[in-house]
Formats: sequence, C-alpha cells, structure tokens
Amino acid sequence: MDVIGEEHIATSVNTPLRWDAFEISDEIKIELIEKHFRDIMHIMGLDLNDDSLSGTPHRVAKMFVKEIFSGLNPANKPDIKLFENKYQYKEMLIEKNITLYSYCEHHFVPIIGKAHIAYISNGQVIGLSKINRLVQYYSKRPQVQERLTNQIAEGLKEALQSEDVAIIIDAVHLCVASRGIKDTNSSTVTSYYSGKFQDQKTQAEFLSLIK
Ligand SMILES: [Zn+2]
Repeated sequence: MDVIGEEHIATSVNTPLRWDAFEISDEIKIELIEKHFRDIMHIMGLDLNDDSLSGTPHRVAKMFVKEIFSGLNPANKPDIKLFENKYQYKEMLIEKNITLYSYCEHHFVPIIGKAHIAYISNGQVIGLSKINRLVQYYSKRPQVQERLTNQIAEGLKEALQSEDVAIIIDAVHLCVASRGIKDTNSSTVTSYYSGKFQDQKTQAEFLSLIK
C-alpha cells in the first residue's frame, strides 16, 4: 500500500467508488465526517475546546462534501448544452490556463495546476465556461493526474459528441513539493489526444498555441 502511494499508481480509469456511495445524504456525510475528524484532531493531541479549533471538524466536513470532493457525486456533474456552430468556425478552439485544484488520492493534499483544452467543432459548439466547469467537476475528487486527464477527456467527448479533443495538464503535487522528496521545482505534465488531434500537425498547432 505504501509503495502504491509513493509511486502514484492509479488502479482504474473510473474513480473507485462503492456502489452505495450515495445511499446516505450529504447532511449525514457531513455529520459523520465531522465526528471522525474531531477524533483525528483529538488523537493528535489538539484541544478541541480552544475557540480557534472547535469549529474545524464541521468546517472540514462541510468543505469535503460540498466543495473539494463534490465532484464525486454525479448529481453535481455540469449540465452541458450544445449550440449550433452558426459562425461556421472550423478550426480548433482552445481554452487555456484553466486553473485547477485537485487532491492527491494517496495523500489527500492539493494538486494545483493548469489545464489546456482544445476541440474541433463537428457542427456544434459548447459554452466556454462549461469547459471550465467540466475541469472543476472532475478535479473535485481524490485523484491521480493521469485519471483526471482521462476523465476530463471522456467527459468532453461525451458532451461534444466528438472525438476531436486534446488536453494537457501541468500540475504541482504538494505531496511531492512539501513532503517526501520535497521537490518544489518539478511539475507533472499529462496529455490526451484523440480524433483529429492524433495528427502530428494538429497536435503541433495546439502545442504552439498554448505556449
Ligand atoms: Zn500524493
């Protein structure tokens, strides 16, 4: 288990969720996480009667369920509508420097990065902010960067009904930067090219435009 954690190996393209992941409500989840997080803080020796700490278990629990891990719940998946490509724009569209905050599933510390996303319209277009929303949705899960990249790609292909998508994610993993090997200079780059982006020329154009 320790080896998997340090090597950051993902076991599956899908987030490994249990079948009963959403059998209990968000409210009950917050209550349960709050209780257990209080126990963790207590075990670490922290005084939960201190004014500054007493609200932390509830804040953390609410943040887990409603914010930073809200992308686990399919109910929070952004609803994406497509529009007709009226301007007949046929070239690639790139949304670059999308800020993402995700969390390493082996250490539960932040992954902070940028996503660059491109697609070529097959007759329909997507609202630009929806691309950001899709990135945020899949980021708000315990993740490994490879899976995050693939999930965003699959989500985008599904939304666009097209194979012509490209994604690059460049991210810093705090589990690498702030602990363990403590390398603050390295970042991790992952990519995904499908459809027309498997063509070298198209790929090169994408890469030159996100520089
Ligand atoms: Zn990690």
